[in-house]
Amino acid sequence: PPAGGPRAEALIELDAVRHNVALLSGAAARSGAETMVVVKADGYGHGAPGVARAALSAGATRLGVATLDEALAVRSAGIDAPLLSWLHLPDEDFAAAVAAGVELSVSSREHLAAVLAGARAAGRPVRLHLKADTGLSRNGCPPGEWAGLVDDAEVAAADGTAELTAVWSHLARADEPGDPSIDAQAARLHEAVAHVRARGFAPLRHLANSAATLTRPDLHLDLVRTGIAAYGLDPIAQPADSPLRPAMTLRGRVALVKTVPAGEGVSYGHEFVSTGPRVLALVPLGYADGVPRRGNDRGRMRVRIGGTIRPVAGRVCMDQFVVDCGTPGALEVAVGDPVELFGTGAADGPTAREWADELGTIHYEIVTGIKGRVRRTVR
Ligand code: PLP
Repeated sequence: PPAGGPRAEALIELDAVRHNVALLSGAAARSGAETMVVVKADGYGHGAPGVARAALSAGATRLGVATLDEALAVRSAGIDAPLLSWLHLPDEDFAAAVAAGVELSVSSREHLAAVLAGARAAGRPVRLHLKADTGLSRNGCPPGEWAGLVDDAEVAAADGTAELTAVWSHLARADEPGDPSIDAQAARLHEAVAHVRARGFAPLRHLANSAATLTRPDLHLDLVRTGIAAYGLDPIAQPADSPLRPAMTLRGRVALVKTVPAGEGVSYGHEFVSTGPRVLALVPLGYADGVPRRGNDRGRMRVRIGGTIRPVAGRVCMDQFVVDCGTPGALEVAVGDPVELFGTGAADGPTAREWADELGTIHYEIVTGIKGRVRRTVR
């Protein structure tokens, strides 16, 4: 009889998050830096509240998110640690964010004015992180507008509407160690900081994402912002003996087992055709669950099934895909058996990075792409 359990499950091991954050925050602490763990996109698909609590218990002192909704969701979960939110339109509800004690990043005078209006409405000062564009050309204040932004922040600090908490930026190519843009961005950040210090402020400085946290201790500054590595995924390369432990395992269960004769096409487009009698196992997960439809385009996607690694046969569909379990008798596989799509990589198991490489994307996109139809089990 089937073993029971959900059709599809993302298993989140908070022990792995604690292990990774302890490593990262230990390295940051050796440079005299604090650690912010980034829990945007619902904790990179792992569940923000659980990850946030695990991270804070393992040495992180701050949390970071992109949007105000994400910040308020962290607060609604009862988590009151320092929390930064950095990506906003100027017409958002900053009063609610300030009232909830959310620290806010600003990249322009227009954003700053809106945030300050929110602080006045909330009746308490806002803690500002002024974001400098040092070469990513995305969010952040360009050098030519920096003096004006700092002027306005200085006025707000003087009248008690704001505290100038930090000056920060984000790297474009930290995952390419040695790329000259990394030092160029750091130099521009130092210029932006010098400008603020010259006005008598002593802001925190932060620049490093996971890749820079792992490879550039000299850029830890006062605070590192680690996302992907906290989830156990190395942004650069993950050797088998990596100290990071992937926290998410995606698994399903076999819904049907059948044997087909030679010459049978499998799944839409018949991209897989059996060369002899084959045992096929049907797994009820598909692209509506976040398993990319193009995942098996090159016929190289693998899953762990029946205690071994087997290839996916043919295209991934909306709700299901098929595993080629080999010739009859080659593998013992039964309805209800577990199927691991990706996980820790132990014993040569499939990983989110391997999927990403197949698809020409990054593991960030794989783990954040797992959909709500997949049950999340946090333990
Ligand atoms: N800081 C900012 C501003 C980000 O947008 C992100 C995520 O993209 C991070 C830090 C964390 O980056 P990573 O997941 O590479 O550590």
